[in-house]
Amino acid sequence: MIKILMISVILLFLLFLIYSILPTVIIRICGLGITKRVKTEAIALTFDDGPNPIYTPQLLDLLKKYGVKATFFVVGSKVKTYPDIIKRMSQEGHTIGIHHYEHISSWVLTPFHLKKQLLMTEKAIKECTNEEVTFYRPPWGSFNLFSLLLGAKYKVIMWSHIFGDWKAEKGKNGLTEQLLKATEPGSILLLHDCGETLGADQEAPYYMLKGLDIYLHENIKKGLKFTTLKDLQL
Ligand SMILES: [Zn+2]
Repeated sequence: MIKILMISVILLFLLFLIYSILPTVIIRICGLGITKRVKTEAIALTFDDGPNPIYTPQLLDLLKKYGVKATFFVVGSKVKTYPDIIKRMSQEGHTIGIHHYEHISSWVLTPFHLKKQLLMTEKAIKECTNEEVTFYRPPWGSFNLFSLLLGAKYKVIMWSHIFGDWKAEKGKNGLTEQLLKATEPGSILLLHDCGETLGADQEAPYYMLKGLDIYLHENIKKGLKFTTLKDLQL
């Protein structure tokens, strides 16, 4: 009996390894079907996990202040809850991409459920913006065996810089300094405008916004350019 149980556990683990962990490692190491940098002199700012009713409008105000267009990878269910924020993003020239309908890792989604997450989010964004949805970033950057096939109609965007800004502690200590070093043209910076996902701190975007304000203030003065993904030939 114990032997059967052990074999079942090992088989389940192997299955999980083949379905989830290996595809993620291979795709991310080989850069297979994904974009980690962009061919441009500008920097692409990207924000995941929103919209958030408090921080996303503040972020949009900040971007407007500096005349910067960015890219938002949004959670479909929140698009349904806060459609006006999405409409504002679109009206102000930002790009809106898919970050699943719920913030669920592809590791635990069946192919059927992954497809549903993509289509429901695409539909929610389209209903708000009347724009085609071109870009996709999976939550936690996790793929499964079918991710690239099911997401083949989208351009999968990862990042060149990640900062741990979903933790308030990081926002208080070190985020601004780390951000200020991220000035290489073609970089894709990943930040978060919502702190409600698993493992994040609710107030973390408050500190991200403070750091971003300093980063934009310093670098725009130096002539650094920023781009939204839909303005690039990807
Ligand atoms: Zn996320």
